[in-house]
Amino acid sequence: MNTCLFCESKTSGYFQKWCPQCRALKHQILLWGDRIYEVVNSVMCRSEDKQNLKVKMEIKKEIENKEYNLRSKETKETPKKKD
Ligand SMILES: [Zn+2]
Repeated sequence: MNTCLFCESKTSGYFQKWCPQCRALKHQILLWGDRIYEVVNSVMCRSEDKQNLKVKMEIKKEIENKEYNLRSKETKETPKKKD
């Protein structure tokens, strides 16, 4: 038995480079192309810190919108610009 060349932990057959799980992954990569890397990087590679940052970035937009609305309420006397 050989060690799988991809995961380097499981064993592959004598004449095979990859273990069955990695061979199945390779098949998915062939099916999905670059989308696989996007999904893995965006979902699997995000640490807890980065997940929190991502949440803050999403909330930041809402906070900015609320602050803008509050500011525009405070300056009601001044004429508004039309969009
Ligand atoms: Zn493997």
